[in-house]
Amino acid sequence: MNVTFESAFVKALQKHASIKKLVKKKIDMIIASPLTTGEPLKGNFRGFYSCPVKRNFIIIYLYCEACRKKRDDAIVKCSDCEKMPGSTIKFVLLGPHDGTDGI
Ligand SMILES: [Zn+2]
Repeated sequence: MNVTFESAFVKALQKHASIKKLVKKKIDMIIASPLTTGEPLKGNFRGFYSCPVKRNFIIIYLYCEACRKKRDDAIVKCSDCEKMPGSTIKFVLLGPHDGTDGI
């Protein structure tokens, strides 16, 4: 599995250092099984996957094999998708959400 971390994700992880361990555990779970650990998002976030870390706190990631299958790479900001191997997971964002923005 090829795994990449966007700078926004790394920054958020530094900001929320208190839950680093929890996040790491989730990252390992996502890498082991990207399609069943998270849930596909809808609407503006179509193509992205989310996985809860704790209540109202989620990891957003892309799995390029899924991008291509659904041709979501045309919609989502998976910029260099075609250059990546299919088995690529990109960790995009990490943060709280209130459930009102469709995530
Ligand atoms: Zn992709």
